[in-house]
Amino acid sequence: MIKPKDIREVLRCIKACKEGSSGGQYRIGSLFLYKNIRIGPFLNNYFKTDPLIPTIANYKYQQDILITLHAEVKVIKELNKRRLSTTIIKKGTLYISGLSPTDIVLTSKPCINCMKLITRTSIHRLIYTASNSEGLLIKENIIN
Ligand SMILES: [Zn+2]
Repeated sequence: MIKPKDIREVLRCIKACKEGSSGGQYRIGSLFLYKNIRIGPFLNNYFKTDPLIPTIANYKYQQDILITLHAEVKVIKELNKRRLSTTIIKKGTLYISGLSPTDIVLTSKPCINCMKLITRTSIHRLIYTASNSEGLLIKENIIN
């Protein structure tokens, strides 16, 4: 069930995306929250693997190649660095929000690789943004 706290944290991620420089790219913001422990928000990073790639790739493919470090991975790296207990991680929530280069909220469901990492980290509750013709949606995913 989505709580007011969840909306507040989703908006926090969106705000971080807005403040981050897009460089014409999509921005994803992510944070972890358990009580007063908040890790993030962190944004995804982009860099060009090789100047040749964008010249041979179509737009979609280029986007895929340019994404090197997903925001949720940064949060998980920080969780590990701070050595938070599995109990805390299980009781907390991972939030993810996405923003287009023109500041439209996007679906920010984690990719397959990030989902694997999220599961391995014992994160139990995931909240991410989604959008459709009716506007912004907030989705909850409980991971067993
Ligand atoms: Zn990912």
